[in-house]
Amino acid sequence: MPDCLFCKIIEGKIPANVVYRDEQTIGFDDIHPVAPVHVLFVPKRHIDGVSTLTASDNEAVGQLVLSAAKYARERGIETSGYRLVANVGPDAGQTVFHLHLHLLGGKPLRGGATSGRGD
Ligand code: AMP
Ligand code: ZN
Repeated sequence: MPDCLFCKIIEGKIPANVVYRDEQTIGFDDIHPVAPVHVLFVPKRHIDGVSTLTASDNEAVGQLVLSAAKYARERGIETSGYRLVANVGPDAGQTVFHLHLHLLGGKPLRGGATSGRGD
């Protein structure tokens, strides 16, 4: 995807602070963090977003969630807790159309499951 920001980060064409890498997934710090831990988990293969997922994406999505959970454990926020967020479409404020999960943690996040990103 030539004009995809996250593809460019994956290819190393745009700098990012990459904190996690495995075969299918990378994780890098969000440029506008809203919590002490705010990492974006992104499949290396371009997928537009949740609304266009198909069964062929099952493995990549499963790996994405596993990677975020593994990293949260490594960062020591598994017990204190964290939030995984996927924004879908305009009302959710999705701005980058390459599937990603926000991992938010390191402080008590405001509100409950319906409160958005926690900021
Ligand atoms: P979303 O609103 O769910 O589409 O999330 C996109 C996220 O990407 C936002 O939280 C932005 O702060 C973040 N972002 C945009 N550009 C960059 C960048 N160059 N490096 C890291 N994060 C970025
Ligand atoms: Zn992409």
